[in-house]
Amino acid sequence: MQSFDTIVLGLGAMGSAALYHLTMTGGRVLGLDRYSPPHAFGSTHGDTRITRLAIGEGAQCTPLALRSHELWRELEEETGKTLLTTNGGLIISSPARTSRTHVENFFDNTLAAARKFGIAHEVLNADEIRRRFPLFKVADDEQGYLERDAGFVRPEACVGAHLTQAERRGAEIHRHENVLAFRGSATGVRVTTDRDTYTADTLIIAAGPWLPGLIGPELAGIFTVYRQTLFWFAIDGPLTPFLAEHCPVFIWEVQRGRQAIYGFPAVDGADGGIKIATEQYDGATSADAVGRDVTATEMRAMYAEYVAPYISGVAERCVRAVTCLYTVTPDFGFVIDRHPQCERIILVSPCSGHGFKHSPAIGEALAALSTGGAARFDLEPFALGRFGRNS
Ligand SMILES: Cc1cc2nc3c(=O)[nH]c(=O)nc-3n(C[C@H](O)[C@H](O)[C@H](O)COP(=O)(O)OP(=O)(O)OC[C@H]3O[C@@H](n4cnc5c(N)ncnc54)[C@H](O)[C@@H]3O)c2cc1C
Repeated sequence: MQSFDTIVLGLGAMGSAALYHLTMTGGRVLGLDRYSPPHAFGSTHGDTRITRLAIGEGAQCTPLALRSHELWRELEEETGKTLLTTNGGLIISSPARTSRTHVENFFDNTLAAARKFGIAHEVLNADEIRRRFPLFKVADDEQGYLERDAGFVRPEACVGAHLTQAERRGAEIHRHENVLAFRGSATGVRVTTDRDTYTADTLIIAAGPWLPGLIGPELAGIFTVYRQTLFWFAIDGPLTPFLAEHCPVFIWEVQRGRQAIYGFPAVDGADGGIKIATEQYDGATSADAVGRDVTATEMRAMYAEYVAPYISGVAERCVRAVTCLYTVTPDFGFVIDRHPQCERIILVSPCSGHGFKHSPAIGEALAALSTGGAARFDLEPFALGRFGRNS
């Protein structure tokens, strides 16, 4: 039976980052994934993810975002790949909003976090938004928070870069190997897959939307998986206003729809369209049962309710649409903690729709945790204890 210092179960955003940082600790590490990441079955696909530094979901995440920007730049230098583009981020909200972004008072929390951590930003009124970003059809009572160093990261390229570098540094990676069971004891962990059985000192479980199915009903109850849809609509008119130099990433707590919308500049030229999405929390699903196709009805509804009323210069023609999965906790926060029954097993679920931007800093923290070191950040806000599941 092969033995390792650490096994990482799941090599998506979090697992690939953890594996990469573990290779710097000098131990023997194994990464296992049921597919070949990056892939389009979990939570880490669709070309782009927003990154921002002042985190409205909880100021405890801002140090993670700041550290992640440093780590993305280091990884870019190491690999020669472009991973992070800081074209600015605009958050639009108003007292008349009918939607929220993950938590109450997202806009005010963002502003407070920016002030607390000294993050460069401007507050814009509706006229200033219209003048600087004429694409956005804002109402007179809407205001904007514009963060200079926000932007977007490329999830597939990031996962690929972490895995390539981890493998170069000696990590063993087994793709298309499904973990069926694991067991922890005071002395180690045993992991059984559809191919083999392994032992290790520590196991990191970063299974994304498959996590609830792996950890038993009591812990699984903390997580709800929701199907989300991503749309790329054709550009109707000149491309220039949609290019990253002119178009920030945006999150908009709209005044008419049930949910906020968010979007990106045209990262693949005119043919790639502009990616715009909203969120839904109506029906829970699972990674195995979810309907993966996006219907023509969904495309039409998205355009009519969430695109045409708010963004100029976008055609109704949808050039591409995909589904993706959120794994959400009751407070929209993250879980990074040891398993209540075995401290050699670390559970990690930083999703709730906003985790990707933090993945390198979380990977670094996981590597420290699993090798007996101290994480750079206070991980207490991410403990299971807040849901009454103490170790
Ligand atoms: C539509 C959408 C939009 C988002 N937008 C943003 C955004 O703008 N900004 C942001 O910061 N975040 C965003 N997020 C959140 C972010 O993408 C997630 O936080 C992140 O991708 C979660 O990564 P993960 O590693 O937990 O899961 P995943 O990347 O899904 O990885 C889990 C891995 O585990 C593997 N696995 C599962 N079970 C097993 C098993 N039994 N055996 C072996 N392998 C297994 C899977 O194959 C998979 O590769 C968004 C998410 C979605 C879905």
